[in-house]
Amino acid sequence: MKGINFPVKLRDISKFEELNNISINVYGLESIFEDNKMNIRKNDCNHIYTTTPTTQLRIDKYGREIPKNILQFENFERQMMVPLVVYADFESVLKPIQTCEENPGSSYTNKTFMHEPYSFSYFMKCSFDNSISKFQLYRGPDAAKIFVSTIESDLKEIYNKYLKHAVPMIPLTAAAAEEQSFQDANFCGICGKTFEEDDARVRDHCHLTGRVRPGAAHSVCSLNYKLPNIIPIIFHNIGGYDCHLFIKELCVPGVKVYVLAQNKEK
Ligand SMILES: [Zn+2]
Repeated sequence: MKGINFPVKLRDISKFEELNNISINVYGLESIFEDNKMNIRKNDCNHIYTTTPTTQLRIDKYGREIPKNILQFENFERQMMVPLVVYADFESVLKPIQTCEENPGSSYTNKTFMHEPYSFSYFMKCSFDNSISKFQLYRGPDAAKIFVSTIESDLKEIYNKYLKHAVPMIPLTAAAAEEQSFQDANFCGICGKTFEEDDARVRDHCHLTGRVRPGAAHSVCSLNYKLPNIIPIIFHNIGGYDCHLFIKELCVPGVKVYVLAQNKEK
């Protein structure tokens, strides 16, 4: 406890951890939430708020009453694999910049080279039909501009062809194995909970292929089990460097660009 005064200040906790070789988490508790405060901070991982556990009842997604102090995972649709993911990367050349002589009497930065993107490649990986997966490579002038237009046209084509409309369920025959597994199912294939007597059971199907998923599902689980409406594009080192190369090309009239809050993960 050397060098630490009581009551211990927050800034001394790291010192205390080092001296005692332990890890300490500090949580704050606020019983009153102000709407605007939550709105501002809800995306910031550095600010975590909690409420006092209570046994009051709430209605869960399945319409059942459960105590508020029981937390359980309910967003099963978020476990679904995205239909399409893109992996991309840029390469640049250093281009000399012609500048005029700065005033040697004052402090200045002399820019001598600029990075100019000259090449990009991306791979679109489709999770439900590998024949849709596609590799694209470009080397030449205006790489940033061509990247944005090429990827936009590729994504629009795939979206309109395969993702825009849900494929209807392929009808089952009475002898189909899926029909038998539906009849035999005693738990929901999506949430894993056992069916209760008054639960509505349905046949659940993949909206990309039309194939029926084996077993049965709660009606509410099947309705919520929607495809993710995002297509992630994963870049090599986008935050550190690559985004500077093409971010201006995304800023066109009529398009809103939202930036995710940075967290402590690289
Ligand atoms: Zn369920």
